[in-house]
Amino acid sequence: MEEILNIKNLTKAYDDIVVLEQVNLTVHKGEVVVIVGPSGCGKSTLLRCINAFEEIREGTVSLCGETINPCREKLNKVRERIGMVFQSYDLFPHKTVLQNMTLAPVKVKKANKKDAEQEALALLERIGLSTKKDSYPRQLSGGQKQRVAIVRALMMHPEVLLLDEITAALDPEMVREVLDVVINLAKEGRTMVIVTHELAFARAVADRMVFIDCGRIVEEGTPEEFFENPKTDRLRKFLDSFSY
Ligand code: ADP
Ligand code: MG
Repeated sequence: MEEILNIKNLTKAYDDIVVLEQVNLTVHKGEVVVIVGPSGCGKSTLLRCINAFEEIREGTVSLCGETINPCREKLNKVRERIGMVFQSYDLFPHKTVLQNMTLAPVKVKKANKKDAEQEALALLERIGLSTKKDSYPRQLSGGQKQRVAIVRALMMHPEVLLLDEITAALDPEMVREVLDVVINLAKEGRTMVIVTHELAFARAVADRMVFIDCGRIVEEGTPEEFFENPKTDRLRKFLDSFSY
Protein backbone atom coordinates (compact mmCIF):
# COMPACT_ATOMS: atom_id res chain seq x y z
CA MET A 1 0.00 0.00 0.00
CA GLU A 2 1.19 3.48 -0.86
CA GLU A 3 2.72 5.36 2.04
CA ILE A 4 1.27 8.82 2.54
CA LEU A 5 2.81 9.84 5.84
CA ASN A 6 5.90 8.52 7.48
CA ILE A 7 7.00 9.84 10.83
CA LYS A 8 10.33 8.55 12.05
CA ASN A 9 11.79 9.00 15.53
CA LEU A 10 10.07 12.31 15.98
CA THR A 11 11.07 14.19 19.10
CA LYS A 12 9.65 17.60 19.88
CA ALA A 13 10.56 19.84 22.79
CA TYR A 14 9.56 23.26 23.98
CA ASP A 15 12.81 24.54 25.46
CA ASP A 16 13.80 21.78 27.87
CA ILE A 17 10.44 20.10 28.04
CA VAL A 18 10.12 17.12 25.76
CA VAL A 19 6.49 16.77 24.64
CA LEU A 20 6.90 14.08 22.00
CA GLU A 21 9.54 11.40 22.21
CA GLN A 22 10.64 9.02 19.51
CA VAL A 23 7.28 8.85 17.77
CA ASN A 24 7.06 6.50 14.79
CA LEU A 25 3.93 6.37 12.70
CA THR A 26 3.15 5.39 9.13
CA VAL A 27 -0.16 6.16 7.43
CA HIS A 28 -1.03 4.47 4.15
CA LYS A 29 -3.30 5.69 1.41
CA GLY A 30 -6.94 5.32 2.36
CA GLU A 31 -6.15 4.56 5.96
CA VAL A 32 -7.88 6.20 8.91
CA VAL A 33 -5.68 6.45 11.99
CA VAL A 34 -7.32 7.65 15.18
CA ILE A 35 -5.18 9.03 17.98
CA VAL A 36 -6.45 9.14 21.54
CA GLY A 37 -4.80 10.01 24.82
CA PRO A 38 -5.14 12.17 27.89
CA SER A 39 -5.24 15.92 27.62
CA GLY A 40 -1.75 17.38 27.30
CA CYS A 41 -0.15 14.15 26.07
CA GLY A 42 0.96 15.71 22.78
CA LYS A 43 -1.77 14.88 20.25
CA SER A 44 -2.17 18.39 18.86
CA THR A 45 1.57 18.89 18.87
CA LEU A 46 1.97 15.76 16.78
CA LEU A 47 -0.53 17.00 14.19
CA ARG A 48 1.18 20.38 14.14
CA CYS A 49 4.55 18.70 13.61
CA ILE A 50 3.11 16.75 10.67
CA ASN A 51 1.94 19.98 9.15
CA ALA A 52 5.29 21.63 9.90
CA PHE A 53 3.71 24.23 12.14
CA GLU A 54 6.27 23.19 14.73
CA GLU A 55 9.98 22.81 14.52
CA ILE A 56 11.03 19.34 15.46
CA ARG A 57 14.12 18.50 17.46
CA GLU A 58 14.83 15.09 16.01
CA GLY A 59 13.45 12.76 13.43
CA THR A 60 11.70 13.23 10.11
CA VAL A 61 8.25 13.61 8.67
CA SER A 62 7.75 12.49 5.07
CA LEU A 63 4.77 13.05 2.82
CA CYS A 64 4.42 10.63 -0.08
CA GLY A 65 8.06 9.67 0.20
CA GLU A 66 9.43 13.20 0.37
CA THR A 67 10.94 14.40 3.61
CA ILE A 68 9.33 17.64 4.64
CA ASN A 69 12.05 20.18 4.53
CA PRO A 70 11.69 23.15 6.82
CA CYS A 71 12.43 25.68 4.11
CA ARG A 72 9.72 28.25 3.77
CA GLU A 73 8.82 28.03 0.14
CA LYS A 74 8.54 24.27 0.23
CA LEU A 75 6.53 24.35 3.44
CA ASN A 76 3.70 26.22 1.78
CA LYS A 77 3.62 23.60 -0.94
CA VAL A 78 3.51 20.85 1.67
CA ARG A 79 0.71 22.53 3.58
CA GLU A 80 -1.37 22.68 0.43
CA ARG A 81 -1.22 18.90 0.40
CA ILE A 82 -2.18 18.41 4.04
CA GLY A 83 -5.66 19.47 5.07
CA MET A 84 -6.24 20.42 8.68
CA VAL A 85 -9.38 21.14 10.66
CA PHE A 86 -9.26 22.30 14.26
CA GLN A 87 -11.60 22.40 17.18
CA SER A 88 -12.63 25.97 16.50
CA TYR A 89 -14.02 26.34 13.01
CA ASP A 90 -11.79 28.96 11.58
CA LEU A 91 -13.94 30.17 8.71
CA PHE A 92 -13.37 33.72 7.51
CA PRO A 93 -16.20 35.69 9.16
CA HIS A 94 -16.57 38.27 6.40
CA LYS A 95 -16.81 35.77 3.57
CA THR A 96 -19.77 33.65 2.59
CA VAL A 97 -19.67 29.87 2.76
CA LEU A 98 -18.97 29.68 -0.97
CA GLN A 99 -16.24 32.33 -0.78
CA ASN A 100 -14.67 30.54 2.18
CA MET A 101 -14.48 27.38 0.11
CA THR A 102 -13.18 28.83 -3.13
CA LEU A 103 -10.68 31.33 -1.73
CA ALA A 104 -7.66 29.06 -1.27
CA PRO A 105 -8.08 26.94 -4.42
CA VAL A 106 -8.43 30.07 -6.56
CA LYS A 107 -5.72 32.14 -4.86
CA VAL A 108 -3.18 29.49 -4.00
CA LYS A 109 -3.78 26.78 -6.54
CA LYS A 110 -4.89 29.13 -9.30
CA ALA A 111 -8.01 27.09 -9.88
CA ASN A 112 -10.61 28.48 -12.27
CA LYS A 113 -13.21 30.33 -10.19
CA LYS A 114 -16.23 28.80 -11.92
CA ASP A 115 -14.81 25.30 -11.58
CA ALA A 116 -14.01 25.87 -7.92
CA GLU A 117 -17.57 27.10 -7.33
CA GLN A 118 -18.99 24.04 -9.06
CA GLU A 119 -16.89 21.80 -6.91
CA ALA A 120 -17.80 23.70 -3.73
CA LEU A 121 -21.51 23.43 -4.56
CA ALA A 122 -21.22 19.70 -5.13
CA LEU A 123 -19.49 19.29 -1.74
CA LEU A 124 -22.11 21.44 0.00
CA GLU A 125 -24.82 19.37 -1.63
CA ARG A 126 -23.27 16.23 -0.20
CA ILE A 127 -23.31 17.58 3.34
CA GLY A 128 -26.82 18.97 2.92
CA LEU A 129 -25.80 22.62 3.07
CA SER A 130 -26.25 23.90 -0.46
CA THR A 131 -28.91 26.33 0.69
CA LYS A 132 -26.28 27.97 2.91
CA LYS A 133 -23.84 28.80 0.14
CA ASP A 134 -24.42 32.55 0.43
CA SER A 135 -24.68 32.61 4.22
CA TYR A 136 -21.99 34.07 6.45
CA PRO A 137 -20.44 31.92 9.17
CA ARG A 138 -22.31 33.81 11.92
CA GLN A 139 -25.58 32.69 10.32
CA LEU A 140 -24.67 29.02 10.74
CA SER A 141 -24.82 26.72 13.76
CA GLY A 142 -21.58 25.37 15.20
CA GLY A 143 -22.17 22.00 13.59
CA GLN A 144 -22.85 23.57 10.20
CA LYS A 145 -19.70 25.69 10.45
CA GLN A 146 -17.61 22.67 11.28
CA ARG A 147 -19.08 20.72 8.35
CA VAL A 148 -18.19 23.62 6.06
CA ALA A 149 -14.68 23.72 7.53
CA ILE A 150 -14.23 20.04 6.64
CA VAL A 151 -15.36 20.37 3.04
CA ARG A 152 -13.39 23.57 2.69
CA ALA A 153 -10.27 21.57 3.51
CA LEU A 154 -11.24 19.06 0.79
CA MET A 155 -11.28 21.81 -1.82
CA MET A 156 -7.46 21.70 -1.84
CA HIS A 157 -7.46 17.95 -2.66
CA PRO A 158 -5.18 17.11 0.24
CA GLU A 159 -3.27 13.83 0.32
CA VAL A 160 -4.19 13.53 3.97
CA LEU A 161 -6.65 15.23 6.26
CA LEU A 162 -5.73 15.95 9.89
CA LEU A 163 -8.67 16.48 12.24
CA ASP A 164 -7.95 17.77 15.73
CA GLU A 165 -10.86 17.31 18.13
CA ILE A 166 -13.24 18.80 15.63
CA THR A 167 -16.31 18.19 17.79
CA ALA A 168 -14.86 19.27 21.12
CA ALA A 169 -16.35 22.76 21.02
CA LEU A 170 -19.79 21.70 19.81
CA ASP A 171 -23.04 21.33 21.67
CA PRO A 172 -23.77 17.62 22.05
CA GLU A 173 -26.67 17.61 19.61
CA MET A 174 -24.37 18.81 16.82
CA VAL A 175 -21.61 16.28 17.29
CA ARG A 176 -23.35 13.54 15.33
CA GLU A 177 -23.85 15.54 12.13
CA VAL A 178 -20.16 16.42 12.05
CA LEU A 179 -18.96 12.89 12.78
CA ASP A 180 -21.28 11.55 10.08
CA VAL A 181 -19.47 13.71 7.52
CA VAL A 182 -16.17 12.20 8.65
CA ILE A 183 -17.55 8.66 8.52
CA ASN A 184 -18.60 9.28 4.92
CA LEU A 185 -15.13 10.55 4.05
CA ALA A 186 -13.67 7.37 5.53
CA LYS A 187 -16.03 5.29 3.39
CA GLU A 188 -14.81 7.18 0.32
CA GLY A 189 -11.29 6.08 1.17
CA ARG A 190 -9.87 9.41 2.30
CA THR A 191 -6.62 9.21 4.21
CA MET A 192 -7.10 10.74 7.64
CA VAL A 193 -5.39 11.19 10.98
CA ILE A 194 -8.01 11.98 13.58
CA VAL A 195 -7.63 13.10 17.18
CA THR A 196 -10.85 12.65 19.12
CA HIS A 197 -12.35 11.89 22.50
CA GLU A 198 -15.43 10.34 20.91
CA LEU A 199 -14.51 6.71 21.44
CA ALA A 200 -17.57 5.12 19.84
CA PHE A 201 -16.92 7.18 16.74
CA ALA A 202 -13.22 6.30 16.87
CA ARG A 203 -14.02 2.64 16.95
CA ALA A 204 -16.41 2.94 14.04
CA VAL A 205 -14.13 4.96 11.80
CA ALA A 206 -10.60 3.76 12.59
CA ASP A 207 -8.56 1.28 10.65
CA ARG A 208 -5.92 1.68 13.33
CA MET A 209 -5.99 3.14 16.83
CA VAL A 210 -3.03 4.85 18.46
CA PHE A 211 -2.77 5.68 22.16
CA ILE A 212 -0.37 8.41 23.19
CA ASP A 213 0.55 9.05 26.80
CA CYS A 214 3.18 11.53 28.00
CA GLY A 215 4.46 12.15 24.49
CA ARG A 216 4.98 8.54 23.51
CA ILE A 217 2.99 6.04 21.53
CA VAL A 218 2.17 3.52 24.21
CA GLU A 219 -0.02 1.19 22.23
CA GLU A 220 -1.52 0.79 18.78
CA GLY A 221 -3.66 -1.76 17.07
CA THR A 222 -6.86 -2.56 15.26
CA PRO A 223 -9.92 -1.01 16.89
CA GLU A 224 -11.00 -4.42 18.03
CA GLU A 225 -7.74 -5.32 19.82
CA PHE A 226 -7.45 -1.83 21.15
CA PHE A 227 -10.87 -1.61 22.76
CA GLU A 228 -11.48 -5.25 23.62
CA ASN A 229 -8.05 -6.28 24.65
CA PRO A 230 -5.79 -3.40 25.65
CA LYS A 231 -2.29 -4.66 26.30
CA THR A 232 -1.10 -1.97 28.68
CA ASP A 233 -2.48 -0.87 32.02
CA ARG A 234 -2.24 2.71 30.92
CA LEU A 235 -4.57 2.19 27.99
CA ARG A 236 -6.95 0.11 30.07
CA LYS A 237 -7.16 2.89 32.66
CA PHE A 238 -7.64 5.49 29.97
CA LEU A 239 -10.49 3.55 28.36
CA ASP A 240 -12.07 2.88 31.76
CA SER A 241 -12.22 6.60 32.43
CA PHE A 242 -14.79 6.87 29.63
CA SER A 243 -18.22 5.41 30.01
CA TYR A 244 -19.03 5.20 26.37
P1 ADP B 1 -3.00 17.48 23.60
O1 ADP B 1 -3.41 17.96 22.26
O2 ADP B 1 -2.75 16.01 23.65
O3 ADP B 1 -3.96 17.89 24.69
P2 ADP B 1 -0.78 19.27 23.26
O4 ADP B 1 -0.10 18.70 22.08
O5 ADP B 1 -1.60 20.47 23.05
O6 ADP B 1 -1.61 18.14 24.00
O7 ADP B 1 0.31 19.63 24.35
C1 ADP B 1 1.34 18.73 24.74
C2 ADP B 1 2.21 19.37 25.80
O8 ADP B 1 2.97 20.42 25.22
C3 ADP B 1 1.44 19.97 26.94
O9 ADP B 1 2.12 19.70 28.13
C4 ADP B 1 1.44 21.44 26.65
O10 ADP B 1 1.40 22.18 27.83
C5 ADP B 1 2.77 21.61 25.93
N1 ADP B 1 2.74 22.71 24.94
C6 ADP B 1 1.91 22.81 23.89
N2 ADP B 1 2.16 23.91 23.18
C7 ADP B 1 3.18 24.55 23.82
C8 ADP B 1 3.92 25.76 23.59
N3 ADP B 1 3.65 26.53 22.52
N4 ADP B 1 4.89 26.06 24.45
C9 ADP B 1 5.17 25.29 25.50
N5 ADP B 1 4.53 24.13 25.77
C10 ADP B 1 3.56 23.77 24.96
MG1 MG C 1 -5.08 18.98 21.64
